[in-house]
Parts: sequence; C-alpha cells; structure tokens
Amino acid sequence: MGLHDLDFITEKLEQLKEQGVYRKLTVLESASGPRSVINGKEVINLSSNNYLGFANHPRLKKAAINAIEEWGVGAGAVRTIIGNMSLHEELEAKLAKFKHVEAVLVFQSGFTANAGVIQAIVDKGDVIISDELNHASIIDGCRLSKADVVRYKHSDMEDLERVILEVKDNYKTKLIITDGVFSMDGDIARLPEIVELAEKHGCLTYVDDAHSSGVLGSRGQGSAHHFGLSDRVDVQIGTLSKAIGVVGGYVAGKRNLIEWLNHRGRPFLFSTALPPAVVAACMEAVDILSESSELTDKLWENAKYLKEGLNKLGFNTGKSKTPITPVIAGDDKKAIALSKRLFEEGVFAQSIVFPTVARDAARVRTIVTAAHTKKDLDEAISAFEKVGKELGLI
Ligand SMILES: *Cc1c(COP(=O)(O)O)cnc(C)c1O
Repeated sequence: MGLHDLDFITEKLEQLKEQGVYRKLTVLESASGPRSVINGKEVINLSSNNYLGFANHPRLKKAAINAIEEWGVGAGAVRTIIGNMSLHEELEAKLAKFKHVEAVLVFQSGFTANAGVIQAIVDKGDVIISDELNHASIIDGCRLSKADVVRYKHSDMEDLERVILEVKDNYKTKLIITDGVFSMDGDIARLPEIVELAEKHGCLTYVDDAHSSGVLGSRGQGSAHHFGLSDRVDVQIGTLSKAIGVVGGYVAGKRNLIEWLNHRGRPFLFSTALPPAVVAACMEAVDILSESSELTDKLWENAKYLKEGLNKLGFNTGKSKTPITPVIAGDDKKAIALSKRLFEEGVFAQSIVFPTVARDAARVRTIVTAAHTKKDLDEAISAFEKVGKELGLI
C-alpha cells in the first residue's frame, strides 16, 4: 500500500469490474479489411469505420510510401513553426474544392478538431445548443469553451425550437451543434429543419460529419452536401480517420473562420502537424472519391443488402438510414452473447451496451464497407440467422 501503488486507481478498476463494465481490448492481428484476423481466426469484419476500404487500399499505400521516400516520416514541428509543408496546404485546397467551401484547416484528428474549433468560435456570453447524443469530442469541445451549453432532445425539432426561444435573447453568438450521422443508431441529423430554425432565430450551425465524410453526399462530401446545404451550414467538421481510411480531422467553412482558427485553433497551434505519409494518403483518397462514385455507390449497395437481409430475417435494426446498422438484442447479456456467438460463427460485430446505449437497447453494431463482397455479406447474414434463432431474437 505504498504511495506509488496508486491504490485509488486500483479501487476504481475494481468498481468497474463490480459494475460489469470492465473490458479488455480486442486485438486485430491483420490489416483492417472486409475479413480480418482476430484471436488467430479470420472473420468477416463488420465493426470498422473503414467504410470505403481505404485503410488498406493499394493506391493509398503507394501514395504514403512515396511520400515517406520524398518527405520523410515526420513534419518536424507544429504547423505554425515550420511543420507546414506544401503537402498540408495541398490537402486543404483539395478538401475545400471537394467540400464546395472557401477554405479548410486540417487538424490531427476529428477529436482535436472539435476540441480546438468550438472553443475558438464561442466564448463567454455565447451559447452552444447541442443535441443530447452528440459525440464525446463535441462534449469535451464545449467544456473547453467558456460559452454556456444547453442541450435539446435527440433530433427533436420542437425541443430544439423551445431551447432556442429560451436562450436567444440572452446571448450574443448562438451556435447549434449536431453530429451529421449519429454513430450508435446510424440516423441522419435533420439538417434542413435545423438550418431553417437556425436562420429563423439568428443562430449559427456546426455539423460534425465524422460518420458522414466519405459516406453521405454524391461523392461522400458529407451531410451538408447531401441536403444541398453546403453554403448554409457555417462550420463543417470532417474526419480523415473513418471513411478516408487514414487519420486526421478538418474544419471546412468561410475563409475568415479558417484564418481565425489558423491563429486560435489550439491543437493546430500546439501539436505537431500530420506526417507526410498520412497527408499524401488522404489526398489520394480524395482524388479517388473525386474521380468516380464507384466506392460510395458500392458502400450504399452493400448497406442496403445487409440491412434488408437482416430485416427479412426479423431482426430489429432500429432507425438507421446509413451503413451503420445496429442489431438490437435487448439487454446487455443478450447483446454480448450475440456478439460472442457471431464470432464463433466467423463474424466480428462489436456489442454495445449500457451506458453507451439505453439498458433495453443493447446491441451489436454492424458497419458494412464497400470492400465487402456479396459472399461476405451472405455468410454474415447466415451467421446472424443461425445465432439469432438460437438466442430467440428472431
Ligand atoms: C469518431 C468521431 C470523432 C473523432 O474522429 P477521429 O478522427 O477518430 O478523432 C469525432 N466526432 C464524431 C461524431 C465521431 O464519430
């Protein structure tokens, strides 16, 4: 029981075990792909965010290798000192064109983008109006700002308007923040209504497109583009870590916003720039998306196929409108059993339980990718059928 034994942390870990929420990490023993190796076994991988198969795409790998040969492995400094390579500027110009916005600033991840951007644009005397199911990085980003935060019920437009009316006369800048696609249920934010309410009441809008970058929009430009609202959403956050397959985040918007973040986006100022290989691979991904809609079309075709297959069997896939398809099992035990049995049948689909989702809505969450073949999906559906019957879910 010495000072350095950190007994207070051991106690906290014990509490997690008592609550049944202690867990070990799953170890991926191969590249992230439609089939991956876990625990020495090749399984159909339905749990990655690698929507377009870019994480292990030959063109991205080639671009990364070439960039290492030419530029080395590190940027050498933060962007504001001398880490700002022409590669970074090229990626930002490419993304701005892709997103139909004036300018883009790249961060080290989607998480750091939210952590940096929110606190830079709202301050004391301002208010953030936030969907109650927004991502943890938005919640942290809000905490880092000095603005007040009020929440509205998930995607509930009446409640949103109620909250706006309550606060609108008391604050200067009023910023509505929402995920573009919500990661647990796969539902899409009601952006047209949100933007309309925002404009009616003089609020700005901020959309985090982590799960919609590379997924929604004709070429994966995101949820604002999907709804034809690219010029009416003030701040668009994107990630380069999910569908784009590498790592990084960005903010897209008006030139003055980007210039301001260039001076006040703290992770941008104080954390080293993305390495050249990452930047080059991301550019290749944007090029591939700009060349053709083949991968995004395949993603949606596969998503439809898996969803319909599961629905036909009688599974409850909730209100998903995207390639994120939850299979709702009921209580935690059922969801964990479903995930475990699926693995034994050759399918990896992570269980998600309370408190991440409601107690009676524990589930396995599937994310299909463009890289899955019909054969992969048919085998996965068969495994779901077998295990679902066994567990009395269908
Ligand atoms: C995953 C996610 C992030 C974090 O993105 P990273 O690039 O992985 O840091 C941010 N916001 C939302 C809504 C996400 O789903």
